[in-house]
Amino acid sequence: MYYVGVDLGGTNIAVGLVNENAEIVNKESIKSKLPRPAEELLKDMAQLIIKVCDDAGVSMNEVKSIGIGTPGSCDCANGVLVYANNLGYENVSFKDEIHKYIDKPVYIENDANVAALAEYIKKDRKMECFVAVTLGTGVGGGVIINGKIFSSFNGAGAELGHTVMVCDGEPCSCGRNGCLEAYASATSLIRQTKEEMEKSPESLMNEIGMVKVTGRTAFDAARQGDAAGKRVVDNYIRYVAEGITNIVNIFQPEELVIGGGVCNEGDYLLLPIIDYVKKNQYVKKLKTTKISIAELGNDAGIIGAAMLGL
Ligand SMILES: [Zn+2]
Repeated sequence: MYYVGVDLGGTNIAVGLVNENAEIVNKESIKSKLPRPAEELLKDMAQLIIKVCDDAGVSMNEVKSIGIGTPGSCDCANGVLVYANNLGYENVSFKDEIHKYIDKPVYIENDANVAALAEYIKKDRKMECFVAVTLGTGVGGGVIINGKIFSSFNGAGAELGHTVMVCDGEPCSCGRNGCLEAYASATSLIRQTKEEMEKSPESLMNEIGMVKVTGRTAFDAARQGDAAGKRVVDNYIRYVAEGITNIVNIFQPEELVIGGGVCNEGDYLLLPIIDYVKKNQYVKKLKTTKISIAELGNDAGIIGAAMLGL
């Protein structure tokens, strides 16, 4: 049997056909073209699902279910997207819309949660607790407990990015100030880089980021020995590491993976985090959390969504 996984984002709708070993056998994406009515977007999604299966030579009889990972809060039991700020949708039944075109079970879940599920499934699946933290446009989190996504009674649990690090700190997309997301997202790394570039006109960052400042600018400068670049990176890593120490103290997961674009920095990002968490976490003498970089990259959304039907 096969499973369809959909990674719905503000920019793209990515659809993948996934086999029982959680491997993608075919995938394709189209633009989300937002803002537009949800009925139109979901019609395009259904057509792309049919195309991705057809192109792979797989009939709908061989597809067990359709899983959709979406930003926002979901009523998972009823297949309804309750609210997604960045899609501009409220109370949309994904299940009913997809059922107009395809008669298969439809599951929906928050995108950070399905990414965590995908990373978990690629591990040995025997962990009592597993956490994935995504450093992207925002800071997302997913918690897997005994093999199941933990999102609590209303489907909105495990918003790890919206825990306050600094009272009255930087404004956050959620309306509060000082959240982990406001310091540890790629968006915030870019903001911190630009601030330091203004303060340090001699910094190499002004050259590297002349055309465009990205999440890589400060890291690239720091690697070349630039003092201002190193200040940005050290400060950024400190916030990420403090946030992860909090998460480790709360959940004590067997493993925690860090995903998102910033993770392309590899050990330069990871090793100082591991070191910081080791020194600062509450538990020191018991077994402690293994921290690593997520393995699946952009495919985590498709694979995790598909595996909702497993
Ligand atoms: Zn927040």
